[in-house]
Amino acid sequence: MRILYVEDNLTNVSLVKRVARGHDIINYIDGEDALHNFDKDKPDLVLMDIQIAGRLNGLEVVKELREQGHQLPIIAVTAYAMVGDREKCLAAGCDEYIAKPLPIPKLLEIIKKYAASVETQDTHLRKTDEVKAVGASEKETQESQVADVSSTPAEMNETSTDEATEHPTSNDETTDAEATKLEVENEEQEKSDTK
Ligand code: MN
Repeated sequence: MRILYVEDNLTNVSLVKRVARGHDIINYIDGEDALHNFDKDKPDLVLMDIQIAGRLNGLEVVKELREQGHQLPIIAVTAYAMVGDREKCLAAGCDEYIAKPLPIPKLLEIIKKYAASVETQDTHLRKTDEVKAVGASEKETQESQVADVSSTPAEMNETSTDEATEHPTSNDETTDAEATKLEVENEEQEKSDTK
């Protein structure tokens, strides 16, 4: 899966790169750069910091992407967990909202969830309105395809859906310990982050 992460705090970028091992992370610190390269980058999922470098804030970038007709999942990621933020993010067109410091289990869950659906979609279709028209029957097809993929080990290895099909609560102790460690590191780094 190709993940576009618009974020000006490079500590968070390296954290997400570690958490999302096996996926491609494309990072911009400036929203305009992200918009400019969007069609070339063809991401499957967007993680969007709200306070970013450049002229536009994250929500403005999200609004622009939605106005351009992009329907891919967009997750807002922000240090500013204040009342009303979630609503603002959703109103701008985000699908979900996560507050920093980045909660690793939640991040893993989101990546797995969207990676699973990306594997069953033609990424080029999602920009068109045809997807809307297909509606429920498309969802059914996706679900059955997910089942197929999870029962085909060769495909899992090839496409890294092994992580995607694994249930979030089935993480072993090593993964949990690692997640906790990453979370602690991130919290420490967030404290010194003035952005
Ligand atoms: Mn920021």
